[in-house]
Amino acid sequence: MAAKKEDLKEKLFYKPGNGYDSLTAAEEKKMEAYCEAYKDFLDHGKTERLCVDYCIELAEKEGFKEYKAGMKIKAGDKVYFNNRGKAIMLAVIGKEKLDKGINLTAAHTDAPRLDLKPSPLFEEGEMAYLRTHHYGGIRKYQWLARPLELHGVVVLKNGETVKVNVGADEGDPQFIIEDLLPHLSKPSDNEPLNKAVSSEILRVLVGSRPIGEKDDSERVKMGIMKLLNEKYGMVEEDFISAELEVVPAGKATDIGFDRSLIAAYGHDDRVCAYAEMAGLFDAKNLKKTGVCIFADKEEIGSVGVTGMISEAFEWFMGDMCKTQKVDIRDCFANSFCVSADVTAAYDPNYAEVFEVQNDSKINHGVAFCKYTGHGGKGGASDASAEVVGKLRKLMNDNGVVWQMTQMGKNEQGGGGTVALDLANRNIDTIDAGVPVLAMHAPIETVAKFDCYMTYKCMKTVFEKA
Ligand code: MN
Ligand code: MN
Repeated sequence: MAAKKEDLKEKLFYKPGNGYDSLTAAEEKKMEAYCEAYKDFLDHGKTERLCVDYCIELAEKEGFKEYKAGMKIKAGDKVYFNNRGKAIMLAVIGKEKLDKGINLTAAHTDAPRLDLKPSPLFEEGEMAYLRTHHYGGIRKYQWLARPLELHGVVVLKNGETVKVNVGADEGDPQFIIEDLLPHLSKPSDNEPLNKAVSSEILRVLVGSRPIGEKDDSERVKMGIMKLLNEKYGMVEEDFISAELEVVPAGKATDIGFDRSLIAAYGHDDRVCAYAEMAGLFDAKNLKKTGVCIFADKEEIGSVGVTGMISEAFEWFMGDMCKTQKVDIRDCFANSFCVSADVTAAYDPNYAEVFEVQNDSKINHGVAFCKYTGHGGKGGASDASAEVVGKLRKLMNDNGVVWQMTQMGKNEQGGGGTVALDLANRNIDTIDAGVPVLAMHAPIETVAKFDCYMTYKCMKTVFEKA
């Protein structure tokens, strides 16, 4: 009797499991190589601009050419469209015309950070600081007492753009936002986390060496301005036309005695951006055109000219459609999109916020998400059963380890992705991506197995969806 019951269980029950149980030695080797290349991508891509720069460098090595309006395209051509240096779309032209639809993957490469205010520099207590405005959802206390880098561009008075990258190279100085010492923190120790650290005190320490005569005022600020002027040709007013981003310092690193995990800044969502880009590079014999997107501004609502809502997407797709005499609406109506974004991995340290039967687990593979949102699926795209079924079958037929996910208990909070922005364009869309521990922390953690399966998922979508 007992044996029969086990057979029935085997046949009828859903049994998601740990991916290592099915990982072959050959696949494990590929996984390790893939993750080394991914870590390199992270170290090059500390901001959305740097991700675009590095993406172009890699894409050109793969034979991609910059797309120009009206360009003739044929099967096998590889093109990219750089949207203002902050977002990018790559396409590999398929054998079928664009009215048959495209296979699209869309990730974002902006990440939570601290942006400099328009007039950021000041001196107080004989030290110089930069004022910041946080970008995206952060827990403010996590940004204290850790080394920081500064990256971005400054448009000078004469219109020239200069790049600023400080803190990543060997021997570079870095920056810091100080925390209160425990000896003097008694009153604030009893405050709620979100009150104990205000956004306005996220002021970055950038120097303390005075110059000039001892009776001069603002001698430290003057020292900093003089250095910026010598190195970048900047005067203080130039901060107004700058985009300078403060991000955590340090390189991506393996975690664990067994090196099974990777800790880094910005896995959300560079871990999916890299997976879709590498998937498109490696995909063979595309029937449908494959398009991969690095979107900007997802963390603040996908808004603006470089966000996923922007018509820059219609410009790129529409122009390619025009050259094939195809109506872009037919193209979208027949397309399939994986909104490639991370999800919250079950964390036993904070088990109370998760619903363990439905939340994603580390090492269980790429995580599909039917709906995101908050307050009763608010702001979700909510993929149909047919769309979930299509992706599920595709993965099962092609040996990709996947799991289903949602994000925590129903009324715990929530989040969104670019899924609805694509679905709103009449494109069948589903979320799929890598489960992350401590998402939106300055340093987030992912499992190598899940990174690799997300890559395999994206490659399979390009080749077979
Ligand atoms: Mn994300
Ligand atoms: Mn995010």
